[in-house]
Amino acid sequence: MTTVNTQSWNSIGEIATAVRSCTKCALHSGRTNAVPGSGSDKAGILIIGEGPGFNEDEQGLPFVGRSGKLLDELLAAVPIAREDVFITNVVKCRPPNNRDPLPDEVIACRPFLERQMELLDPRVIVTLGRHSLLRFYPEGKISKDHGKILEWEGRVLFPLYHPAAGLRNPAIKRDLQADVLRLPEAIRESLRLSEPTAKLPDPQADQPTQQAAEAPETPETPETPETPETPETNVAEAQLSEPLLTSETQDKKETKQGDRQLGMF
Ligand code: URA
Ligand code: SF4
Repeated sequence: MTTVNTQSWNSIGEIATAVRSCTKCALHSGRTNAVPGSGSDKAGILIIGEGPGFNEDEQGLPFVGRSGKLLDELLAAVPIAREDVFITNVVKCRPPNNRDPLPDEVIACRPFLERQMELLDPRVIVTLGRHSLLRFYPEGKISKDHGKILEWEGRVLFPLYHPAAGLRNPAIKRDLQADVLRLPEAIRESLRLSEPTAKLPDPQADQPTQQAAEAPETPETPETPETPETPETNVAEAQLSEPLLTSETQDKKETKQGDRQLGMF
């Protein structure tokens, strides 16, 4: 088995170069283009899908097909621009017929995602779909965990359904549309988490946090269009029983500058 010296990749661009010439798993033989990822290398938000599909393989870019269009719509509703995030996948080459990536393919590709995470050091990791969630929570269940604001190694982990699932199933699409509106809250929570003593409860422990949000540092009203405070009441209420955050953080419009591109929230 070949070992990969991840330390030799010193930038997102160097990782991309390595991905494009990688032959570490069988997926390399069917690819037109590898898809290392795209977006800002200063992004505070990392979005991780499963693997490239037909259009992504054609263009060498992530989420440019129908799933990508839905992802764009979801981000626009927050609103977040593609340029404000970095988007990549668990495997960087297209699995044949869009099948799920196999465990050995995920393992072979893992050093690239690891190093992307090290270099980007995102405050919020958004996983799309089951495979991406399992990378962080092997015990996770997408049907139960979607839309929750969880902690993973000092960052916020925010699992969403995969947009492709939303395209197949209108109920899942509605969940996606409601869940994504919690992204500003996830971002605010990630800023709080990056303060020295902050700690979110263990998601497995199932205990709501008691901690109130920090006072805003710069209280001027953000220009962000209003995210509905209680978008779909049922959703908002259901979330009160979830591991993190209560209405304290939702009710205050906070702006905290200086944390790269997260300042807008
Ligand atoms: N689905 C994914 O998981 N990733 C892409 O890049 C496109 C579709
Ligand atoms: Fe290499 Fe990942 Fe592509 Fe497999 S999927 S060939 S490990 S870049």
